[in-house]
Amino acid sequence: MKELSRLLSQIPPSATLAINDKAKAMQAAGHDVIALAGGEPDFDTPAHIVAAAFTAIEAGYTHYPAPTKGITPTLEAIAEKMAKENNVHVNPKTDVIVTPGSKWALILALSAVINPGDEVLYLSPAWVSYPPMIQICGGIPIPVDLDPEDNYTVTAAKIRARLTPKSKAIMVNSPCNPTGRVLTQAEVQAIAEVAIGADLYVVTDEVYEKLRFDGRPHYSLAAEPGMAERTLTTNGLSKSYAMTGWRMGWVVGPTPAMKLAAIMHSQTVTSAATFTMKAAIAALRGPQDIIQEMCQSYQDRRDYMVQALNEIPGVHCPSIDGAFYLMPSFPNSQKNSVQLADALLEKAGIAGTPGIEFGATAENRVRFSIATAMNDLERAVERIAKIAHEL
Ligand code: GLU
Repeated sequence: MKELSRLLSQIPPSATLAINDKAKAMQAAGHDVIALAGGEPDFDTPAHIVAAAFTAIEAGYTHYPAPTKGITPTLEAIAEKMAKENNVHVNPKTDVIVTPGSKWALILALSAVINPGDEVLYLSPAWVSYPPMIQICGGIPIPVDLDPEDNYTVTAAKIRARLTPKSKAIMVNSPCNPTGRVLTQAEVQAIAEVAIGADLYVVTDEVYEKLRFDGRPHYSLAAEPGMAERTLTTNGLSKSYAMTGWRMGWVVGPTPAMKLAAIMHSQTVTSAATFTMKAAIAALRGPQDIIQEMCQSYQDRRDYMVQALNEIPGVHCPSIDGAFYLMPSFPNSQKNSVQLADALLEKAGIAGTPGIEFGATAENRVRFSIATAMNDLERAVERIAKIAHEL
């Protein structure tokens, strides 16, 4: 038999999804596993959004959408949200594509800017899928290592140190999965300064935008002076609106790049599901207080978990500004992050994601999702307290 895809043979499956699947399969088989591996809200999708999808299906929104890249009211609702909340102004006719999940929005953005061999920088630790996505689109992933000791602060100098003549773009995620950092205005300006100076495109992942704590503001890179023409912004409803299974996201950006993204979109997935586009309008234009309630609940869980984990000898857990992941370290342990995650699963029945999956900068840590019911988090703390000395 001839060789199967060399590219895909080198790329691991998504660790977050693989460990999530494993934990859920263990639960289904009757094991008492607390699943903190995959980042998925434990809340149900708000009822008015579910109702909008039912209504849409009954009204016949079960065919291809027209335009293919999204029905006009959804494109308009996204453009309106971007203008109002992000100060990013795009033409809904030409600059917006509705995608099946924000992962596909990232693929569209990357495929629109990358030529084979282009280098794409990303801030590390980073979500597990960034380097594979860059590779799948023909680029070379280049990590810009951030330091947990200075709270993963981004500076222009750190990014410049990784630039070469092949540098083409930089991926930015704020609030960040897995670090929980929300970029400050100074950090966003530093990224913009380097991007303009080195003529880089910027692909931003803002899917955790609404999950910020302690009143921290969110800054969209596309809103910075001189950035609209070089920034592709991705977002989606999965995390903020508890809609992971709906696969609903979007990408907005400058018209020439969006033209190419639309070619990729129409030649591959065709479109997102038409009735989910109606649900998206209900989400974006409907009541937002429910989002605030979910966010407050994540903040309460953060407050509980950070304090409770830090009270356990041998566990150190930095606090977070946003998203819903904690990355404790275990300073007395000799184990690497894969061994730590294995030990937590075997000894305590807790599924977490090894830090190494997010890059070398997260080694010796395990990522826990706190989008998990409070009583499960309390049980997890009790179990970690019992076995921490064995880690
Ligand atoms: N983004 C989530 C995570 O990091 C969900 C799984 C995925 O698509 O990676 O756990």
